[in-house]
Amino acid sequence: MIVTVTLNPAIDVSYRVPRFQIDKGHRVENGSKTAGGKGLNVSRVLKQLGSEPLCTGFLGGGSGAWIEKKLIDEELKHSFVQIDEETRTCLAMIDEHGGTQTELMEKGPVVNEQEIEKFQVSFKHLLEEATMVVASGSLPAGLPPDFYREIGEWARAANIPFLLDTSGKSLELGVEGKPFLIKPNKEELCQYTGKSDLTFQEMIDAAKGICAKGVEYVLISLGAEGALLVGHAITLRAEIPVVSVINPVGSGDSMVAGMAFALHNHYDSVECLRWACACGISNALQATTGTIDPQVVRKLLSQIKISTL
Ligand code: ADP
Repeated sequence: MIVTVTLNPAIDVSYRVPRFQIDKGHRVENGSKTAGGKGLNVSRVLKQLGSEPLCTGFLGGGSGAWIEKKLIDEELKHSFVQIDEETRTCLAMIDEHGGTQTELMEKGPVVNEQEIEKFQVSFKHLLEEATMVVASGSLPAGLPPDFYREIGEWARAANIPFLLDTSGKSLELGVEGKPFLIKPNKEELCQYTGKSDLTFQEMIDAAKGICAKGVEYVLISLGAEGALLVGHAITLRAEIPVVSVINPVGSGDSMVAGMAFALHNHYDSVECLRWACACGISNALQATTGTIDPQVVRKLLSQIKISTL
């Protein structure tokens, strides 16, 4: 069983607002409301691929209850720790006419000491059944910034591969927990290295440096440019077909799900990279964030060109 960790989930509400203007009122159609959070996207895609993931993290208040109901409706197995404060809501105003997307993202609840302890106990129980752990996204306030390092250490002690997709300080400290794989995009890798831009070779060098710290693989996602998979002894580049993109939000999460699925099935690194890219592309071809079409994924696999660098 693959356990996905979403520590700071959100209700994602999005409104279509034609000709959105600052400082004006807008009458709009009812917004779409989804159970959001990167780890939940990973779980959805894993389920579409035929896995039965289990989602964990923190949920609180009425929004937390709403998300839990959605997960039940979607038949996603879950075991969240209940917290006192309210799970956050994130709001997007999409103006297709003006080509803008304005977002308001709440910071979210503050998780207290007791709730952190409850999570530790519950997570360690889940590790008894888990065969892989995937953690994605930001940390809510109250958690120590090295929380992903701790998760990595627990998973390592249980001999379970840990995949981490996060950014900034939580990535920097998370690497110290020696995850099996991390998935930065170019911007996140720039942030990690403290550079404003990186050439291809510099990205590979940075990834090799991360591997030297005990990470097995660094999967660098490059949007329409494909991806790089760097390990101690290999560097693979994936070139992907040109497609008509509909909504690339959630492509990174879908890529992580594709990688987790392929690793879980013991595919070799070339195949794993193909599955990761195919899922990322398939997500970009769909309107709904964090979903794929498994048939499209299978068709895309052969269209991804992998070369050894
Ligand atoms: P993130 O969402 O984490 O920034 P990316 O945007 O790099 O991740 O997307 C992850 C993967 O999804 C890419 O490596 C690629 O395979 C696919 N993808 C993303 N955007 C596009 C695009 N515009 N065209 C084709 N594939 C894409």
